[in-house]
Amino acid sequence: PYEGPSGEEILAKRKEFLSPSMFFFYKKPLNIVNGKMQYLFDENGRRYLDAFGGIATVSCGHCHPKVVEAIVNQTRKLQHSTILYLNNTVADFAEALAAKLPGDLKVVFFTNSGTEANELALLMAKLYTGNHDVISLRNGYHGNAAGTMGATAQSVWKFNVIQSGVHHAVNPDPYRGIFGSDGGMYARDVEEIIEYGTSGNVAAFISEAIQGVGGIVELAPGYLPAAYKMVKNAGGLCIADEVQAGFGRTGSHFWGFEAQGVVPDIVTMAKGIGSGIPLGAVVTTPRIAEVLTQRSYFNTFGGNPVCSAAGRAVLDVIAEENLQQNALTVGTYLKNSLTALQHKYQLIGNVRGRGLMLGVELVTDRELKTPAKLETLHIMDQMKDLGVLIGKGGCRGNVFRITPPLCFTKEDADFLVGAMDYTMSKI
Ligand code: PMP
Repeated sequence: PYEGPSGEEILAKRKEFLSPSMFFFYKKPLNIVNGKMQYLFDENGRRYLDAFGGIATVSCGHCHPKVVEAIVNQTRKLQHSTILYLNNTVADFAEALAAKLPGDLKVVFFTNSGTEANELALLMAKLYTGNHDVISLRNGYHGNAAGTMGATAQSVWKFNVIQSGVHHAVNPDPYRGIFGSDGGMYARDVEEIIEYGTSGNVAAFISEAIQGVGGIVELAPGYLPAAYKMVKNAGGLCIADEVQAGFGRTGSHFWGFEAQGVVPDIVTMAKGIGSGIPLGAVVTTPRIAEVLTQRSYFNTFGGNPVCSAAGRAVLDVIAEENLQQNALTVGTYLKNSLTALQHKYQLIGNVRGRGLMLGVELVTDRELKTPAKLETLHIMDQMKDLGVLIGKGGCRGNVFRITPPLCFTKEDADFLVGAMDYTMSKI
């Protein structure tokens, strides 16, 4: 049994000693004290089905025994900086990770977060191409440091940064976008940005394959191949931000970009790579990787022995437990059930996503697509009381994000949909 301070006491401390900018999804925040696979437990031992932990980082499940064991064993042996000395754990993990990537993507730089990974990717693209301009997608999220905050294109996450040389392209959003599902049409905006807004040469194009923070928006089919072609013609590198969609989450593929049939020049990752451990990575080709030898570059803790041991165990668990296949099977089943719910409730305007990265957009009017913001908050709160945790996203705050740990089962999916159905029936 839990004997620590109550939720109210923690909240009081947090208000006094922690960042005032931290936010909660629930009116009364939960005090979570334990986690086991797809479940979380509060201070009273109450169990919650965690259908949002995947985004918070967890791919294999909370406290997966194999991942915990790898962390504990390595901590007993050595924890140190990644730089300075040789270490087998780090090199081993880099080799195993590189084996998961296509083409010539073979050189790994480890970081501590997704923001750091994207900052480094943008830096390498600028050095490699000698160009400065970056194109990112409206509604994308790439991080919150100076460069990545510029590439992020949702006003709520932007502070007063100088985003010199960043251009935000029209989002190929099949539900709300002006060209529907015609990826080729949206890509023409990239061509126009290059033509009208730059010297004709760009450093990079960066995008997620499925926008996570933006509310699970899967890029219109055909968009990435067309956009990549234009960027390459302008001398730029293509960066795939796989922080959310990577590591089997989309079910059909290990990496989100693969569904569009492209091979990026640089791939960035975080979150799922460590299944709960702070870890990120940039993977690129040997030629591009060379640019960082022009100066001294290091990251003290990126991919340190303990995090690398965890990352290696995560790759093993994903393979041994067929988690990508599970994401496909259970994700497809869950998406079908959510789509059935859409036929029942006018409130559900759109069900989308792939594998265990699903979005449900709520609208008060299907024609006008009026965001149902209050209903979204209300349903999330009620579902929490029924024991199901889901996330929220999109710049209008009206999209449920369903991104559970990849060990989610069909029974879990039924429970989630049952809770959503019951809550919606009471509105
Ligand atoms: N890229 C994407 C697609 C993300 O979703 C996030 C985090 N939400 C980041 C980058 C930044 O990662 P971090 O918070 O680890 O810096």
